[in-house]
Amino acid sequence: VSELECITYGVGHADEGVCLLMRLGPYRVLLDCGLGHLAPLQSASPPADFVLCSHAHSDHAQGLRALHDAFPHLPIYGSEVTSQLLPLSGVPTDLCRTLPWRTPVEFLEGLSVACYPAGHLPGAAAFLLTYTPPTRGAKSYKVFYTGDCFLSPSRLVEGFPLEELRGLCPDVLIVEGSYGTARHPHRRQQENQLAERIHRAIAQNQSVLLRAKALGPAQELLMLLRSHHRFTGRNLDIWVDRAIAIGCDAYLDILPFLPANVRNFARHQPLFWDEKVRPRVRRLPDAQDLSALPSPCILVTDRAAPTPLDPPNHWLTLTVQDSPPTQAGTTYLLAQHCDGPGTTQLIHNLRPQHLVLVHGSPADLADLTGLEELHNRYQIHLPAAGSVVDLPVGDTFLQTAVPDAPYAGELLALESGVTISLPEALLTDPRWQRLADTGLVEARWQGEELVLRGVSQQDLRRQVSGDRLVDWVDANSPLRQSCAFCRHYRRQRCGNPDSPLFELKVTTDGFCLAFEPAPD
Ligand SMILES: [Zn+2]
Ligand SMILES: [Zn+2]
Repeated sequence: VSELECITYGVGHADEGVCLLMRLGPYRVLLDCGLGHLAPLQSASPPADFVLCSHAHSDHAQGLRALHDAFPHLPIYGSEVTSQLLPLSGVPTDLCRTLPWRTPVEFLEGLSVACYPAGHLPGAAAFLLTYTPPTRGAKSYKVFYTGDCFLSPSRLVEGFPLEELRGLCPDVLIVEGSYGTARHPHRRQQENQLAERIHRAIAQNQSVLLRAKALGPAQELLMLLRSHHRFTGRNLDIWVDRAIAIGCDAYLDILPFLPANVRNFARHQPLFWDEKVRPRVRRLPDAQDLSALPSPCILVTDRAAPTPLDPPNHWLTLTVQDSPPTQAGTTYLLAQHCDGPGTTQLIHNLRPQHLVLVHGSPADLADLTGLEELHNRYQIHLPAAGSVVDLPVGDTFLQTAVPDAPYAGELLALESGVTISLPEALLTDPRWQRLADTGLVEARWQGEELVLRGVSQQDLRRQVSGDRLVDWVDANSPLRQSCAFCRHYRRQRCGNPDSPLFELKVTTDGFCLAFEPAPD
């Protein structure tokens, strides 16, 4: 029996929350409880020895209250700021006991926990769990869970302190991969694009409605509007709806924990509510008639509001997303998680043996597992909810690799080419999926032997830029009509305004009616 195992109650695919049970030897630690209902957790009583809450977003915390009601003696821990922000996800402050930053605390004999700031949201924590079995001279096991994580600093949160954790070499790294392999422009650039668009509207006397997530992105946005050169000093009202105002008030309560430059800003002018210093920031009265507001103005509202405000016709509505935009023109990205290169940088710096990927769309996460630089070096797991991930730890990495038995097959040479048939057993190997991902293989001689390699989506993308794809796909293949061969395919996205896929992330084997062949 291996000492480490992860049971996944929720893995944060699409809208589902995160809830993972990590078993270390005899101990069970629940990592987050973002479940809408607790049914999967009820089988054991109590379901864990204790709970760690990474941060106050509801996809990580919304089940804590019900969990506490069902198991009042089950201790829940988080950072001090998280405990203060939890009421915004419906969790009373006093449910969460607080942990100091960067200080290992021995919770149970042989099991300690230390938390590190994770970026993303004030108070967000990554956890390092260390378990040392009681046997003399036994090796310690290390598990690192990032929660939601962002390396770059944003306006109100410092970034994840990668330097401090470089070379940690945990046995298991549970990491979020929200943005898959996508590469984002620098955060400052994202902000400038959005600020320019708002500025243009205001310059044309057009009011702007901004829709953003009420805790985190909305406050980032307000700070941007308060400090960006396009807006400072401008005679302009910024109205804030009630859900976001609650978030702003919570930020004011945690002001002593915010970055030094923010505290400094707050010494000279209020962080949010300000009737004097321009642009002014004000609470939108309930049931306010929007057309009666002096225009142009800016209104920031909760993206997830059950009854969204309906702006007057001539207003510009922009959605600010913390995930990549799906609708061109009216949707802007203010990233709150690592992009693809950030995630891989984090992983390479920590150097785990096992890599468990959670949080994001399964397709985006699969893009990450497809990266050669990752699957060559780490044992990757992409679990669905409700699975048990066994995490056997070798003394060294190499010992875990047992040589595979060969498969016997048959050759059939025809005039048109060669067909190789291999036994079905191949399909049951977890690696088959990756090899067969695109349905294309590359064969190359290695001395007297012929080696087969699956062509991955990444390879295809590379090939598209390198023009060699044509060599791989038969002239009559239907794939010749796919995105890979379309003149509008650029960097994994569709660039054809006539296509329903316009600006969306597409795979190379995608199809649409607006296909136009790329010039040879
Ligand atoms: Zn979050
Ligand atoms: Zn999350």
